[in-house]
This record gives sequence, C-alpha cells and structure tokens, in this order.
Amino acid sequence: MEYKGNFIGGQWQEVTQAEGVFTRENPSRIDETVFEFPWAVAPVEDAVSAARKALPTWDKLGFDARLSYIQKLAKIFADRKEDLAMAICHDAGKPLWEARGEAGALVAKINIMSTTGMEFTRDLTLPDGSGKAVYRPLGVLCVLGPFNFPLHLPNGHIIPALLNGNTLVVKPSELSGASMQLYFECLQEAGFPDGVVNLVQGPGPVGAALSTHERVDGVLFTGSYNTGLRIKKATIEQPWKLLALEMGGKNTSIVLEDANIDQVAHELILASFLTTGQRCTATSRVVAHKSIASRLLDQFVELAKKVTTGDAEHEEVFMGPIINKGSYDRFLAMQQETESGKLQAVLQGGKAREDLNGYFLSPAIWKATEFDPHGAHQSEEIFGPDVIFYEAADEQELIHIANGTDYGLAMSVFTSDEERFERMTYDLHSGIVNMNRTTAGASSALPFGGVKRSGNHRPAAISAGLYCTYPQSRLMQGSDFDEESVLSGPLSYLSK
Ligand code: NAD
Repeated sequence: MEYKGNFIGGQWQEVTQAEGVFTRENPSRIDETVFEFPWAVAPVEDAVSAARKALPTWDKLGFDARLSYIQKLAKIFADRKEDLAMAICHDAGKPLWEARGEAGALVAKINIMSTTGMEFTRDLTLPDGSGKAVYRPLGVLCVLGPFNFPLHLPNGHIIPALLNGNTLVVKPSELSGASMQLYFECLQEAGFPDGVVNLVQGPGPVGAALSTHERVDGVLFTGSYNTGLRIKKATIEQPWKLLALEMGGKNTSIVLEDANIDQVAHELILASFLTTGQRCTATSRVVAHKSIASRLLDQFVELAKKVTTGDAEHEEVFMGPIINKGSYDRFLAMQQETESGKLQAVLQGGKAREDLNGYFLSPAIWKATEFDPHGAHQSEEIFGPDVIFYEAADEQELIHIANGTDYGLAMSVFTSDEERFERMTYDLHSGIVNMNRTTAGASSALPFGGVKRSGNHRPAAISAGLYCTYPQSRLMQGSDFDEESVLSGPLSYLSK
C-alpha cells in the first residue's frame, strides 16, 4: 500500500524531517513490502493541537449529530469490508477468513456501542429533579494500538470515545500501519470535521511522545505489559491523565473430571492456536484433573498435529504466520527452554512450511512435571502457539495452578456442573471466566478487561464509555427566592 502521510486536521501530511523509515514486510512473504513510511515525533504536536482545536465544537454538536457521522462510517466500513480484510491479512498475517471476521466486527462494534454502550454514560437524574450527573468527554485522547487486532481493538476505543464527544490522535502499531491508513481513509470519507480524528504513524518513540503529551487527557492503550508499565511510569507526574491499559495474558483452561473431553479438545485448539496463538486471551496453560488428563492430552495433541498453516492470503489455512522475525526467533528459542526438565515436549513446536518464505510455525504442547510460577517458560507471555499442560489432584490444586500467574485476563472452566462453575469463579482471579468455551474471543456486549498484569480496572468493550468520560454532577434549583424559608435555616442569624 502506498503511504499517504499522517492524517492531521483533516489533511494527509507528509513527514518533512524524518527520524527514521519503517519498512513492514508481509509476514507470509517476507520479500514483499506491505508498507514503508518515514516517521518523526514532531507531528505529534500538530496532531494534538488539531484535536484540541476541534474539541469544543465536536462536544457541543451533541450525541445525535455525532452519531450521524458514525453511522456514515459504518456504511463505509461495510462497503469496504473486503479491502479492510485484505489489508489486515497483509500486515498482521491473518488468514483471510479471520481477517474478514475482524473487518466485519468494525460495524458490529458501532452498532452495540451506539445503543447499549451509551447506557453506561446516560445522565443520572435525581428522582425529585434537584440534580443530575452528566457524562462529559475527557477531552483529547490518544489511542495506541497493538498489531494482533490492528483495527478491531483501536476501533473499540475510537467509537465510544467519539460518541461521547472526545477528539482523538491515533497511533497504530508500526507493524500494522497500512490497515490503519485504510481505516483513516474511511474516516475521511465519512466527513468528520477537521481535527476530530488524527493519525500519526510511527514506532514506540511516537507513542511515548503522544502518551506523555501535557495536553492529552487520556491514553487508551492495548499492548504488552512492559509497554503499559512504561506508559504508567512516564506519566506518573500527570496524575490527572486517564490510563486505560489493556495488556497481556497467560490464560488458563481448567478441565474438571466431569468435562466433555471431545468438546474440550476442540475448544482448546481454538483457544490456543487461533491467530497463531497471538490473542491476548489465548490459552497458553491447561490444568486438567488427573483422572482425565492423559486422555485429554492425547486428543489435544492429535488434533494439534492437524492444524494447517500457510500463506494467509493464498491458502485456506487455520494459522497464518507469526507477526515478525523477532517473534519467530523468540518462539523458536522458547522451544529450548525446558526449565531444567520441568517441561517435557509432548508435541515439539518449530519451523513450518519451509517451502514458503514466511514466519510459519507449528504448535508446541508441553507437559509440566513441576509447577513453577516463576519459570521463564511457565510465567512469560510467549504470544505464539505454545501451551503448557498441568495435571492436578483436586479442585484446590486446579485453582492454585490456574491463579499462579502474574496475569489475569481470561480463564475457562470445563465441567458439566454449572453450580460448581459458579462456585469456583469466586476463587478465580481473572477478568473473564468462561464455561465450556474457549478463552479466546469475547462478547462486545460485555465488559472486557483483566486484573493483575493484564489491566488496570478500566474494562473496554461495552463499558468503554466510562473511561472516556467524567461525570459532572449538578445540583439545581429555580431562581425564586423565599426569604422566609432561607432565614429559618442555618442562615437565621442574618435576620437578627
Ligand atoms: P506492544 O506493547 O509492543 O505495542 C503496543 C503499542 O504501543 C504499539 O502501537 C507500540 O508502537 C506502542 N508503544 C511502544 N512503546 C511505547 C512507549 N514507550 N510508549 C507508548 N507507546 C509505545 O504490543 P504489541 O506487540 O503490538 O501487541 C501484543 C501485546 O498486546 C500482547 O502482550 C497482547 O497480550 C496484548 N494485547 C492485549 C489485549 C487486551 O485487550 N488486553 C488485546 C490485544 C493485545
């Protein structure tokens, strides 16, 4: 895709004094350049100024008028769905079937956020009419996106922020700049007033300049724990700034003795290997009751051997490539990390499709002989198709291992006993706990977010309106003045 520039104040603007040039290769065909762009930190200033200038008018426009722009955008997204899917396929390496799902989710997000989502920020009126709270936009927000859902996740911040009257500066992952350029072409076509939505492309330093900018009121971030931590530290002297941090995961599927093993094995394939294991909600740990563990492990391994991988655009495959060389090398290095024998490879992960020129991998499944919550392989988010399988003797041990991670985004419990599931949820420290369903995938109609290193209690999805607004409380009375009643209260001394 040809680079058009940053989108600032309603115009595509070239970077004049570049600090670097970023070249993005297609991870399915690494000799093919998808996008190449110069970047600099300086445009951040212009983009924030444009967003600030546009803020009062956009805010005062009111919800209905703002909604009409968003609805126009939904129609454009629907018309350009195939182009958007192709861009996601090229830069994020998602198989087309999956990229089409992501492109389709953009419209679904608009529909849910502009209806049920707005209930979260509806005026709160006192029953006697003496006051109300009105949800006001925070102001200028920046959206920092990850590569794995290059449009769906930024869109999940952008739509509620705009509906609630904020203006925006968006910085996508440098690995998926082409998708976001196309997204902004759609925004431009929808005719948003100049400065309401701005795009600045670039790597980490651009994100750092944006998130620490004095006139940015909030940071809506989706990415890794380490980057989230850097943002938190860098903004420590800006306590007014809202940080909504959606970070990593090391997610666990818990399998009880009464689970349907066939169902679990299939759900685990989805949970662990969809998006080549690069979902924040991917299952990378399975804890199974010892009575069914070996049967489940056998089935899971047999199914995992059948997982297909290949060129995201040209083949009907389940898994595309991993995102880039760094992730490819790290995954391969992790295949040597047995933590001194605490992990045994049951299905050896490694290079795949060496007939193609891309970052293709085959899934890895490990059996843990010893649970070590601090082991490098057992504790770190690998963000690839890599799963560790644990056996546990009873419910207490299942829960102990499941909670034995620094992350707390998603868990699943597989059981035929709903009461037991409900009871166990009290002990599971996780933002999402599913029953008999994969950890991967979530409902836009529910809040979405994690605890511990996975988030900071600002859940996205349906409740996103809450983190891009603040409640303004108003006590109100008429202008009639009843002196007698006023002077009979605490001001009675005034009549003496
Ligand atoms: P990342 O942390 O490397 O990058 C995320 C964004 O932050 C990018 O736009 C990047 O350029 C920017 N950035 C980098 N350094 C920065 C800095 N110092 N200041 C400000 N911004 C900076 O993440 P990634 O590799 O793109 O995405 C994968 C990670 O995202 C995984 O850890 C995954 O679990 C997580 N993730 C979380 C969720 C969730 O909802 N919890 C969803 C998807 C992905």
